Amino acid sequence: MRDSKGCIFNIQRFSIHDGPGIRTTIFFKGCPLHCLWCSNPESLNIEPEEIWDNIKKKNVITGKYYSIEEVMEIIRKDNDYYEESKGGITVTGGEIFFQKKFVIKLLKKCKKEGIHTACETSAFTTTSDFKELLKNVDLLIMDLKHYDTDMHKKYTGVPLEPILQNLDIAIDKNVNMLLRIPIIPGVNDSL
Ligand code: SF4
Repeated sequence: MRDSKGCIFNIQRFSIHDGPGIRTTIFFKGCPLHCLWCSNPESLNIEPEEIWDNIKKKNVITGKYYSIEEVMEIIRKDNDYYEESKGGITVTGGEIFFQKKFVIKLLKKCKKEGIHTACETSAFTTTSDFKELLKNVDLLIMDLKHYDTDMHKKYTGVPLEPILQNLDIAIDKNVNMLLRIPIIPGVNDSL
């Protein structure tokens, strides 16, 4: 994996659903989970790849390598909007921990420039990487896919335990957190 550049499949300016205010949302490629309901299959592979675009009716390349400075140039364009709306940036994926070094560097840079930082993650990672992330985000948005260990493994392909461990850490540290459970009919909507 290259750490000096990040593989990103979308940078969405003027987002209003990924945290407070007006935000720039950065979508990183690569995910270790394989949720059966995944609506972003183009995000799973960490490398740029050719995929079929059903609207354009042709193959297109998804994913492009960016340096920190190239992403920052795009982020800074909306500094006035962040300030007015109390917005900032949100890093998401895929799963941001697949490109953890680059993501952390980017978050640090934003914080240094006074830009509010949020992340969306499954929290499927080591406790040390998770703690490092927490030091650099103002808002943690965490998706818990299933509350049952067997069902979690069955539907996402990865164990639930490390995720719960990280959730405990976030609670202990009293971080600013939004915990979400996506309701998937037939998967996690029973009592
Ligand atoms: S965590 Fe998100 S991107 Fe990864 S497989 Fe699940 S739904 Fe798809």
